[in-house]
Amino acid sequence: MLEYQAAKDALKGKTILVTGAGDGIGKVAAMTYAAHGATVILLGKTVRKLEAVYDAIEAAGYPTPAIIPLDLKGATEQNYIDMAETIEEQFGHLDGVLHNASLLGVLGPWEHMSQSSLDEVMKVNLTAPAIMTKALLKVLRKAPKASILFTSSGVGRQGRAYWGPYALSKFATEGMMQVLAHECEGTSVRVNSINPGATRTKMRANAYPAEDPMTLKTAEDLMPTYLYLMSDDSEQENGKAFNAQ
Ligand code: NDP
Repeated sequence: MLEYQAAKDALKGKTILVTGAGDGIGKVAAMTYAAHGATVILLGKTVRKLEAVYDAIEAAGYPTPAIIPLDLKGATEQNYIDMAETIEEQFGHLDGVLHNASLLGVLGPWEHMSQSSLDEVMKVNLTAPAIMTKALLKVLRKAPKASILFTSSGVGRQGRAYWGPYALSKFATEGMMQVLAHECEGTSVRVNSINPGATRTKMRANAYPAEDPMTLKTAEDLMPTYLYLMSDDSEQENGKAFNAQ
């Protein structure tokens, strides 16, 4: 676990987009970024959950966030282009994006894999962040320093039986991070990936129903690495695969 202590105002003045901000790790990351001074843009598919995070941020007296309701399963390139334009109009630039939303899909042996489940997982976990990032690059380049953070997984770095579509999407996420980081070398934009590791969330409980969640780290435990990678303290980091645990 990274021994990093972010200054209270480490993200002051920054605008950071978090996908899947209504639940799990994304929700805690959005709250944590706001607590460190960022204006967070909360993107997710369940509006009620996004509104609850919005209200919690307001109640805590952190900078007023924004909400983008979007289901990545059905999102089109035009949705991302419109979103990027709105962000540019409202904030002028974007300092960071945490690509966190993901779908676990169906776990099981390869011969039981359904193409529709594979397509769905690849759309949400890979195509959506790829095309969203394409649309956002212009507004990210308007920030003095910008951080793009893709969320990976242990099974995106070492294959594991029965994790088919999800593992494929996470291996490809690591590849996307490396390609884009190489393209961004020497620019104001940096690109890295983060593997949260086993964390007490709904997704983990779905993948390991027999596990005692109390034995797991919480999303809050991971936040030093999530903060480090969004703050200017990580401005030298590019093209690296980080572990939050
Ligand atoms: P959760 O399932 O708890 O949360 C996932 C979030 O993504 C939810 O806010 C969900 O929204 C959102 N989301 C899912 N599908 C879509 C969609 N189609 N469009 C928009 N938003 C969507 O997952 P975690 O917090 O556990 O996971 C966060 C990230 O960390 C993921 O990328 C995951 O792969 C990764 N990870 C997690 C690990 C763990 O142990 N928890 C381990 C390794 C990696 P809604 O609630 O509205 O459905």
